[in-house]
Amino acid sequence: PRRVSARLGAIAESATLAVDAKAKALRAAGRPVIGFGAGEPDFPTPPHVVEAAAAACLDPANHRYSPAAGLPALREAIAQATLRDNGYEIDPTSVLVTNGGKQAVFQAFAAVVDPGDEVLLPAPYWTTYPEAIRLAGGVPVEVFAGIEASYLVSVDQLEAARTPRTRALLLNSPSNPTGAVYSPEQIAAIGAWALRHGIWVITDDIYQHLTYDDAVFTPVLQAVPDLAETTIVLNGVAKTYAMTGWRVGWMQGPKDVIKAATNFQSHLTSNVANVSQRAAIAALAGGMDAVEEMKVALDRRRRAMVASLDAIDGVDCPTPLGAFYAYPDVRGVLGRTIRGTTPTTSAQLASLILAEAEVAVVPGEAFGPSGYLRLSYALGDADLAEGVGRIAALLGEAS
Ligand code: PLP
Repeated sequence: PRRVSARLGAIAESATLAVDAKAKALRAAGRPVIGFGAGEPDFPTPPHVVEAAAAACLDPANHRYSPAAGLPALREAIAQATLRDNGYEIDPTSVLVTNGGKQAVFQAFAAVVDPGDEVLLPAPYWTTYPEAIRLAGGVPVEVFAGIEASYLVSVDQLEAARTPRTRALLLNSPSNPTGAVYSPEQIAAIGAWALRHGIWVITDDIYQHLTYDDAVFTPVLQAVPDLAETTIVLNGVAKTYAMTGWRVGWMQGPKDVIKAATNFQSHLTSNVANVSQRAAIAALAGGMDAVEEMKVALDRRRRAMVASLDAIDGVDCPTPLGAFYAYPDVRGVLGRTIRGTTPTTSAQLASLILAEAEVAVVPGEAFGPSGYLRLSYALGDADLAEGVGRIAALLGEAS
């Protein structure tokens, strides 16, 4: 007899959360596991943000329900941050505050995708997108760009994947999992293509402040303002301000879409916790000093990790220009024998690395094709060096 519905039964556990949970369980059992799985900064939330939240706890106004779309002051702060960071104006009423960027992802697809609609999904992709597309009844259409293409899809590839059923394109630059960042020219070209074909753009800009070297984040609505009526911007405070636990994100878009998503959210979760919203206001209004400090540390770790991984025989690790992930190509290691086993997929290699080196990494299978690993470098310098050193020692035994 049927128990779990087909719709939910088809959803896989988040592979990144699963790897992280496994590493934490092993550590709790006394194993010296180093975890490169988690997608969160190791820094504490900046003190001025925590203080604003503590003060908000004492204000009885925050003990009650508030508008489903978000506190007006936060929607205003998001509009101001958009002008400051992206260079274009938005109406605060075009913003819906969500429980983390994740809820915004699900609500964005739910708002514009009907059953059978195809969504172009550049791969490697963040593991949550295909689940959100499918839950909305949509069909994820993967468009893969490997290491040879610097993990960046081209307009030609998108055009080749376009059909009469193509409804939307997902953009995520800087990218989780690859750290790739599209150039201003590439964003302009992709945006113009989407506009020409009436394809919705759902752009997840959650890593927009984390770019390195000469890379710049390009907001698609800055590059192609005419897309405003067919673009949904997803964002949040989690990655920028070390606020993963506070659960504040948002979606911004055309009024009809935001209205529909707000109606949905009013039944699903109502408003985001008021104390968290107050914390987000303090983060957005508080300037970028704490963020710049974090970026100095992340940049140092990025360069250390890439240099060590790339030096391993059989591993090709390009330098990521954004977010906090390295995405090495490990196909040169597959098929070789390490301590009596011969991994032929990146999933098998990741299991071997966890078992033998006690280091947790996420296999490429979680994000698209096999042959790659994702390692977060948002952890302490000493742990990072130790973990990568263990991987290098293990893979050095391959024959
Ligand atoms: N988008 C991307 C690409 C992410 O990597 C994440 C978190 O891992 C999110 C959105 C959502 O983050 P949160 O729900 O913590 O705001």
